[in-house]
Amino acid sequence: MSELLAVAVAALGGSERPGQARMAEAVREAIETDEHVAVQAGTGTGKSLAYLVPAIRHAVAAETTVVVSTATIALQRQLVDRDLPRLAEALTGPLGRAPTFAILKGRRNYLCRYKLTTGASDDDEPALFDPRSVSSLGRQVARLHEWAEETTTGDRDELVPGVSELAWRQVSVSARECLGAGRCPSGGECFAEQAREDAGHVDVVVTNHALLAIDAMESFPLLPEHDVIVVDEAHDLVDRVTSVATGQLSEALVAAAARRAGRACDQEVADRLAEAGEGLGLIMADTEPARLDHLSEALEGAVTAVRDAAHACVTAIGPDRKDDADASNVRKLALAALGEVHDDAVRMLAAVQPPIAERREVVWLSSPPSQAPSLHVAPMEVGGLLRERLFGDRTVVLTSATLTLGGAFDHLARQWGLPVHRKDHPGQTGHPDPRDRPEAVADGESAPASAEPVWRGLDVGSPFDYPRSGILYVARHLPPPGRDGLADAYLTEITELIQAAGGRTLALFSSMRAAKQAAEALRERIEHPLLCQGDDSTGQLVREFAADERTCLFGTLSLWQGVDVPGPALQLVIVDRIPFPRPDDPLASARQRAVAARGGNGFMSVAASHAALLLAQGAGRLLRTTSDRGVVAVLDPRLATARYGGFLRATLPPFWATTDPEVARAALRRLDAAAERVPEAAR
Ligand code: SF4
Repeated sequence: MSELLAVAVAALGGSERPGQARMAEAVREAIETDEHVAVQAGTGTGKSLAYLVPAIRHAVAAETTVVVSTATIALQRQLVDRDLPRLAEALTGPLGRAPTFAILKGRRNYLCRYKLTTGASDDDEPALFDPRSVSSLGRQVARLHEWAEETTTGDRDELVPGVSELAWRQVSVSARECLGAGRCPSGGECFAEQAREDAGHVDVVVTNHALLAIDAMESFPLLPEHDVIVVDEAHDLVDRVTSVATGQLSEALVAAAARRAGRACDQEVADRLAEAGEGLGLIMADTEPARLDHLSEALEGAVTAVRDAAHACVTAIGPDRKDDADASNVRKLALAALGEVHDDAVRMLAAVQPPIAERREVVWLSSPPSQAPSLHVAPMEVGGLLRERLFGDRTVVLTSATLTLGGAFDHLARQWGLPVHRKDHPGQTGHPDPRDRPEAVADGESAPASAEPVWRGLDVGSPFDYPRSGILYVARHLPPPGRDGLADAYLTEITELIQAAGGRTLALFSSMRAAKQAAEALRERIEHPLLCQGDDSTGQLVREFAADERTCLFGTLSLWQGVDVPGPALQLVIVDRIPFPRPDDPLASARQRAVAARGGNGFMSVAASHAALLLAQGAGRLLRTTSDRGVVAVLDPRLATARYGGFLRATLPPFWATTDPEVARAALRRLDAAAERVPEAAR
């Protein structure tokens, strides 16, 4: 292993790092012992090589496939475009043949040739009443037709610039809507089928958490047979799986299903579904957006009417006409849409039946500004699903820069459905203590102790010297953040910090409103260029931010994962407040209540864990190489004063800490002066 790793590191132009070697060894051991391993590997560890090398070695030796799953497209691209091609070349000699790899995503990510040739659907009719939508949509669909002539993969992510979701839906299908390669007239040249075919014959399949989740949830396999899965960016796994498992009902969704049904069954039956959808829309408009522990009589009646009308449509749709592909397509599209509407209505009605303490799903109504209201249903936990379908009969390697919260793997392990170690701490390995069974099991889910997955947690640290390279400054003197936007004291603090840093700032806010308020105020107070999320695409903003050292970038949580800017363009990260979930967040509040009902600490398990993960990710933007220096400034004084502050600080990298604003500003001034002295060419 160490020889292979040395070859790989040399090929990718890096240097050997002890954490990387430890991680590679742990992954190798997990594969060989059929156990699972969670590895926290700080920025700069070179963790992708640390799992790819043992994974490839295993795939080649055992003639099997290893699946690598990522949360973000950026990492997927890094693996497929950079790491894997170079690795394959470097390892060809030592392994005796060139390792192979392919990328595989859900069907909706590929252009559907059949839909492209049979014309755009009118599922989104309402949008077509808007002439601006028509022309813009028309232009985008025309571009997609041109692109279809030249693309060899049909992969949406390769279309640059991209198109709107509405346009993409005109040329793509979900797995439910696909006719199936055997019956589809375009089946022989189908991009999605080609990708699956390619993935079936390679050593490494790179995919995303969404497909991993669908593969775990469906009864038929989407991924090729494999015995090892590497989940990179594993801190995001639960959220991605939850969002795949979330169902939705809106008037527009029901109307689209009714339109499709109208082409496949008696129009009168389809019209009844459309009416039921309108009824639901009216009742939702009269309901406050919130978590719904109970459905009002009217709402329950409306959801029941939708369920029954969708069922009536399904019954009214005749048998499949195998000799007529177009009729078969119409039928399939109708059944797919009706199935979703029906199943989601059934889930919503069932979710609110059991006593609150026994609920497994959460229902809520959302009504974002300028959008129609919609009902949602999501699982309270996905740990049971993951334990059964992901950790069941293969080795799983979970890795990320942040997997320990408050210094322990427990929090994320619980969410993944893994048994919790009684005395787990970074670096500690071992088998679960049978006295400490996971909450899901304690709640009565089936999983005898003997069948519990065996795993170990390992923190391989980071090559960065955090106490010497970074300062954590907590503005203890500021008032706790309020509900009505940023107080003036916060704006003054941000101004003084940015002035001391000479720009070079990434400021992360807990809401778009706060980011915009700060950007507006600061543009009048500082002389440096200031970009705000929403001014342009995030990718473009990050490029501009990196290109000009003195530029500042303001944004929200969604920026936290996308910024990888080494060097003096980023020497100050500001976080305005501890990113707890909003108190009215339906899923977080229901999960918190469920933990409390089991005798646990709901706030620490859910809200503080959520905040810790985001804070660590945000702070992780500061140091990207061993030569980077800077300050993470958290303006929320509760990080220093509240009881949970210690837990949150223990999740952050071990920066040198201060609450003295002058110390922070002086450090920033020194860093600014140092960056000025070093000419760019010398860096
Ligand atoms: S097989 Fe399915 S995805 Fe492929 S072209 Fe046909 S309908 Fe589209």
